[in-house]
Amino acid sequence: MREDARTFVPTATWIAAFAGITENLMRACFVLLALLWSAASPAAILLKPDRVFDGQAVHAGWSVLIDGDRIAAAGPDVVAPAGAETIALPGQTLLPGLIEGHSHLFLHPYNQTSWDDQVLHESLALRTARAVASARATLMAGFTTTRDLGTEGAGYADVGLKQAIDQGIVPGPRMIVATRALVATGAYGPKGFEPGLAVPQGAEEASGVETLVAAVRRQIAAGADVVKLYADYRWGPGEPSRPTFSAAELAAATSAAHDAGRIVAVHTGTTEGLSRAIAAHVDTIEHGYGGTPALFALMTRQGIALCPTLAAADATAHYRGWNGQEPAPESVRQSRASFAMALAAHVPICMGGDVGVFAHGENAREMELMQADGMSPIAVLVAATSGNARFFHLGDKIGAIRPGLLADLIAVGGDPTRDVAAVRDIRLVVKNGVVVRR
Ligand SMILES: [Zn+2]
Repeated sequence: MREDARTFVPTATWIAAFAGITENLMRACFVLLALLWSAASPAAILLKPDRVFDGQAVHAGWSVLIDGDRIAAAGPDVVAPAGAETIALPGQTLLPGLIEGHSHLFLHPYNQTSWDDQVLHESLALRTARAVASARATLMAGFTTTRDLGTEGAGYADVGLKQAIDQGIVPGPRMIVATRALVATGAYGPKGFEPGLAVPQGAEEASGVETLVAAVRRQIAAGADVVKLYADYRWGPGEPSRPTFSAAELAAATSAAHDAGRIVAVHTGTTEGLSRAIAAHVDTIEHGYGGTPALFALMTRQGIALCPTLAAADATAHYRGWNGQEPAPESVRQSRASFAMALAAHVPICMGGDVGVFAHGENAREMELMQADGMSPIAVLVAATSGNARFFHLGDKIGAIRPGLLADLIAVGGDPTRDVAAVRDIRLVVKNGVVVRR
């Protein structure tokens, strides 16, 4: 016992001395970190590009001042306050951070792994780890916000990913999440197993007004910012899409979501599905391949936006062997035709490519196809910034360069108002006033 006591005394002294050193070291580290932090985050940042696209129009010779997480000033005569950092952006265009309207961060391209195999055979941990990498790729590509329309079998993992991004644990875009999405019982996939066997599905099944409304409310309680509904789908392999939810179900689900202050996004590929969704007063239509001039005119009148997802149709056709030469396969021609019809009817156009079907970080592919299929570069940029912000009820926070809004900004080489492909040449990404890529 004595021996133990004797060895104990010097050990305690040593620990006390070590603790003192550690405390001093820690204090020095904190001072150093504070110095580094103030060097990395000056009181204000003045950005001086060749031109500014403010979400609506182009302004040559404008500068933009960031103060904290907000845009403090934008215009031709902005003066940097004392202590501000000035970042010159010669030959570059400054834009609001781009907003992806239709992503699936928990999916990866189907030519890597089929959708069925991702839903059935990839673990939640694997899918989440991949989603973390995909979120980073999205942000680095200049998309500072994404509306993620369903985890496709990965449960509520989008809510956790959104929290991890918001808490600064991993880099990624601001997320608007749908959680599991809702499908009519038996309508979705994966399919093709022993009849009657319960197979994990890519979305939550519901039938009947009461059950569906309860599911909408459960998803909202679990963190859904947007409610995603499938108005039609292929009931069996090789079949065309046919309506799934009834008009009454769609209307009740939409009304329950709106009561809770959530927007509603509806997948449609048929004329009847689109017609029911419009009658239900939903907020955005995804795909909309069953559109007619009369239905698109109704969407315009009601202010319902269309996410044409041209890039998803294009990517899927490539996976099926299309070499990109004209004439394009029927599915691509159909997506182009409905997009042209929607443009002619002046439907508000959302920029949403269904990214996940193709690689995250390649989000600009949808913008390039919108331009190739008849939209002006400025109109495409409006869709990807102030348009999407408005459709998603975030116009008072993001999507434009104007004092008071959050400082989500990107600088790209060249002039995307002449050719949107320039948005691929990312030089600077700022989210919430923090430079995340330079
Ligand atoms: Zn989708």
